[in-house]
Parts: sequence; structure tokens; C-alpha cells
Amino acid sequence: MLFSCVSDAVREKFIDVSHQAIESTCFPHSLGFRSQTLKLRFVSPEDEGSFLPPRQSFGRVLQNFEERFQSQLPKPVYYQAHIGENVSLIYAPYYLEGRLYDAVLNEPTAKEVPEDIENMMAGGTRPNWHLEFLSTLCPNCGWDLEGEKDSLVLLCRNCNSAWQPGKDRLQRLKFGQIAAADDQNIIYLPFWRIKTDITGINLDSYADLVKVANLPRVVQDHWHGIHFCFWSLGFKIRPQTFLPLMTRVTLSQPQEPLVAELPNGDLYPVTLPVEEAVEGLKITLANFIVPRNVQFPRLHEIKITPKSYLLVYVPFIKDHHNLTQPLFKLSILKNQLKLAKNL
Ligand SMILES: [Zn+2]
Repeated sequence: MLFSCVSDAVREKFIDVSHQAIESTCFPHSLGFRSQTLKLRFVSPEDEGSFLPPRQSFGRVLQNFEERFQSQLPKPVYYQAHIGENVSLIYAPYYLEGRLYDAVLNEPTAKEVPEDIENMMAGGTRPNWHLEFLSTLCPNCGWDLEGEKDSLVLLCRNCNSAWQPGKDRLQRLKFGQIAAADDQNIIYLPFWRIKTDITGINLDSYADLVKVANLPRVVQDHWHGIHFCFWSLGFKIRPQTFLPLMTRVTLSQPQEPLVAELPNGDLYPVTLPVEEAVEGLKITLANFIVPRNVQFPRLHEIKITPKSYLLVYVPFIKDHHNLTQPLFKLSILKNQLKLAKNL
């Protein structure tokens, strides 16, 4: 998801693009829709062929994309954030038989074959990557951990713990839940509560939030003592929904007591890592500070440093089409989430 602050609006865009990682005119610049329509599988040492090493860094390619998308936006662009990006290096197959063939279609490509193609192909290597596996037994008690296929966090119902993959082992994760009165017809969605240091704007307490967002509430004395936290979604959803939801929860500043126990009800998998959630903090701030025409040009002066985070499961009531959270006045269309059939 790419978010951009321009004039007095935050524009959002979902991006799924690819760009050639070598520098050659005989191969296409982009995979087009192939990266979405063809099934990808991991490269293994058994795979035959010559794998050309990437010649352009991801940073360079990303810069290309940014310039391309910025050209479609009104100027100036005050701030941009990428959230939830998933970067993959994809190898596309070609072969040489007099001409250069696209090995997916088994058809010759239209491009001229350059004279140094043999040299170029000789510069390729055999793959020597392999997948590494982590045991999904609870490091604390040895019980089977549970989690959906795409979940970034695995849970132990036996010793009531949550785990996320670290470099070569699972790491324990602090979590809490806002308890529901009863778990009937409830699904818990994961959120990240993130404590930060903010400079460049006065936003330490709930009272400060009411002021900078110009919320229609009368500041009460004890609100100066309520520490401001960002709340981010812990799951991916389309960008048109992502930012409004994140903004709404952050403006609500939930103060409900948190219980450090896993909920008994259905849990939605964590699919947005906290590192990516952090990328969304400033754009959330940009989405609620007013007036925008004064604040947007000052965005570059504002610095947000994450200090600590907590995974919080928030109960939502399931109805026919929606999941709703009455306390924070949140409603999410069910068809925007990847829910199991029986939910
Ligand atoms: Zn355990």
C-alpha cells in the first residue's frame, strides 16, 4: 500500500508491480500480470538452469516506482509511506535456441537477441538457497503451537503464550485482549498498540490528541495523564479501509483493561508485522491532524520513534455482512477479510 500526503488529502494506492532486476533490453521490463496470475514456487538447489544475479538493488527499483507514481500526483507531495510491502525476487524462465524463447509460453520473444547473450547467460549461477524450518512446538512448554497458514504469530493454548519467528528461533511476544462479555458470535482481530516518542508536535497525552485532531470533546483534567499510543491493524486489508480503521482506533485510544490471556473465541491471524505497522504511524498522524494546509508542510519536522509495542486482540461481533466493534464504532465488511467459511 502506498499512501501520499498531497495538498489537503491523503491518497492511497494498492501496488503490485515488478521491475527487471538486471539491465538488459532483450528481456521485458516487467512481469506484467504474471506475478499475480502464475503460481510461484521456491527455487531449490535441484533446479536446473542458469540464474542471472540481480544487478539493480531493491532500493533503486523502489525509487523508480516512487518517481513513476509521484508523476501522477499533484505537487508538492509532502510525505509518502509504504506499508505491508512484500518484496520478492522472482526468476522468469527463458531459453536460447537460435532465438530467445519465453519458456512459459514456449514462444520466441519479439526482441532482438544481443550479441553478448551467451556471455550474459554464462554469468548466471546455480541456485544454492534452501528453506529453513522452525519447529512449531512451544519453546516454553513443548505443546503444539496453533496458527493459520499465513499467520505471523503462533499461539500456545497450553501455557497461554504467543510467538513470532526471530532470526533462527521463535521469540515470545507480549499480548493482551480486550475481553468480551461472552465469546458467542465473536471474532477477535489483532491490533498493535505502539508507544512512541514524538517530536515536532505536542502529542504525549489523550488531551493533546483532542487538541491536534480537533476532536469534538471537552478536555478533562485526567486526560493529561493518559499516555497517547498509536493503534495499528495487525492484519492486511485494502488501503481504502486500512487507513480509516487505523485512524479511528487511534482516535478512540481504547482504555479498556487488557487481560494477558488468549481469548477463547475465534482469532483472526496476524498478517501485518509490527515493523510494517510502524511504517504507518506518520501517515495515521497526517490523517487526523488539522488544519491540513498548515500541518502537511510541517510533516517533515515531525519525528516518531517507536518505543514498545503490544499485540492486542479486540473482539468484534459477527453479523451477516459485517464485523462490528461497538466501543470504537468500527465496522468491517466481512468480504474484505480472508475468513474461514464457517465464520
Ligand atoms: Zn506453551
